[in-house]
Amino acid sequence: MCLKSFATRILGKKASSFGILFVHVPKFTAKLAAMRYSRFFAPTLRDDPADAEVISHKLLLRAGFIRRVTSGVYDFLPMGLRVLRNIEAIVREEMTCAGAQELLLPMVQPSELWQKSGRWEKYGNELLRFKDRHAHESCLGPTHEEVICDLVSRELRSYKQLPMNLYQIQTKFRDEVRPRFGLMRGREFVMKDAYSFHADEASLQVEYQNMFTTYQRIFNRLGLKFRAVEADTGSIGGNQSHEFHVLAESGEDLIAYCSHCDYAANVEKAISTRVIPSFDTAELSNISTPDMTAVEDVAKYLGVEASQLVKTLIYQVTGGAFDGQIIAACVRGDDSLQGVKLARALAADIVELADDAALKTIGSLKGFVGPQGLACKVLIDTSLQAAVGMVAGANKIDCHVSGLSIARDVADAEIADLREVRSDDACSKCDSKGSEGYIKQARGIEVGQVFSLGQQYTKPLGVLFQDQHGKRAIATMGCYGIGVSRLIAAVIEQCHDDHGMIWPLALAPFQVVIITMGKSETAMSASEKLYQDLIEAGIEVLWDDRKERPGVKFKDAELMGLPIHVVIGDRGLDADAIEVRQRAGSKQAISMASVADTIHSIMAEVS
Ligand code: ATP
Ligand code: MG
Repeated sequence: MCLKSFATRILGKKASSFGILFVHVPKFTAKLAAMRYSRFFAPTLRDDPADAEVISHKLLLRAGFIRRVTSGVYDFLPMGLRVLRNIEAIVREEMTCAGAQELLLPMVQPSELWQKSGRWEKYGNELLRFKDRHAHESCLGPTHEEVICDLVSRELRSYKQLPMNLYQIQTKFRDEVRPRFGLMRGREFVMKDAYSFHADEASLQVEYQNMFTTYQRIFNRLGLKFRAVEADTGSIGGNQSHEFHVLAESGEDLIAYCSHCDYAANVEKAISTRVIPSFDTAELSNISTPDMTAVEDVAKYLGVEASQLVKTLIYQVTGGAFDGQIIAACVRGDDSLQGVKLARALAADIVELADDAALKTIGSLKGFVGPQGLACKVLIDTSLQAAVGMVAGANKIDCHVSGLSIARDVADAEIADLREVRSDDACSKCDSKGSEGYIKQARGIEVGQVFSLGQQYTKPLGVLFQDQHGKRAIATMGCYGIGVSRLIAAVIEQCHDDHGMIWPLALAPFQVVIITMGKSETAMSASEKLYQDLIEAGIEVLWDDRKERPGVKFKDAELMGLPIHVVIGDRGLDADAIEVRQRAGSKQAISMASVADTIHSIMAEVS
């Protein structure tokens, strides 16, 4: 389709009157930023869709930004795509400023590369594997460490080419167990992923910090309230990592931070200091606890605190040295066991609570499990390492033991950090300096993560170079992800009200909406004139020229969260008092002649 007929289709008949602009590319681009609602594909819904749980998912569907294709897979409609592109633009700008170079890697990745890194087996069911017509195995990329290492290994020669940071903005596929919350946890989603290569660890640290501050800049520009926290390295691996979390009640992650110092970590990694009274040593003895299977019941019956009990949980392990085995893990009765910490302590891929039948195989039974004499590996939380006078299950029906000393009676157990920190625990980072800092918790949406990977991928994939002394050396690597499509949901979670989304100017699908009230020729032509003026001024404008009631138009404009609304009707024109409203707040009535200037000054003020 030629540019002119394309523009005529989207702008309407009037487009043909701007013939001169069709040869002037920059202005033509500005025209594409404008749209008549009557020709625009933005199907809005009056009611909340039944299957949407969180506000961002509800609003994205209602406002016609996205539509579901299948579980965790969505269409981006024009409105949604415009926001996605705006976020991408900010990410691109900041990554470029930070010295990273954009490339585009394939979505389809051959199994051989994943076999080299060891992740073909390890990655689990999230990796969508398939065979092509030649029975060759491939996968859809959930992340691109293998592919980028393969590329760089073939091109890298000398230390003089390093450091180098390469990034892409691309669609990923992860066959998530529980895709949910719309764009928040999809199976197909858009990620910015960057990979840096270095001659040594010191250079990697510099880039890690560079990416850290770049992420802070990006999330600030997106207008988000966020926090960077220490993080577990998960399936990506490596030796150091931080996640960036947008603070929101709907967040799937729990983060812990100090009331006093800058300590902040995902609870999957967070540590704290628990002040627990020490209990008297006593003889190890059996006590009868008929039908008392819950910690609370036993504590109440014996008149002790729950912290004096040992809670023993039995897990089935997948991956690592204990693959396929049953293990026991203990925390204090009033603590919770952190599953990710346990998996890390075992170097396992997955740990799942075992079923009752598994208890039998290790010589125990439900409700009375204790750490003594089990026929399996036992891990014990560090807070119990020196514990004496404890109460635990006796691995016999209706029976517990008291006077348990961990060091004496469970001497073979491995001590590891297994407990999940709790609000009000003392902060391990600053408490020792007498600060009285304590742990607070908040929910977060993970929108980015940075990893210092070392040589985890560069070694197996052979990313080698000649160092300053002419020797072959293995490159050191970092990787840095941002959930670009998840960010759309995260921004909405923080920026909405009862009427709909509230977009910051930099992200809004359109900066201005002109709402024409009524069908009078005067109102339509005044609206069209303003529409053209704003287009000429390079403003992204949606003209609601539909034959709908004003109420419907107001509701849609609010639902879509467009930042500036200009209302043009006969009454306003007669009085020369045109209403200019900001979605986030104030409204004013001004003369028609000063509307464009007012829009400019609002935009200058809020951007
Ligand atoms: P999560 O813990 O939420 O599953 P992750 O730690 O596995 O995420 P990374 O490998 O760190 O994800 O990917 C980089 C970024 O991609 C994440 O910080 C997140 O913003 C985004 N992301 C990851 N998984 C999804 C998903 N299923 N849907 C949308 N965005 C995602
Ligand atoms: Mg992550």
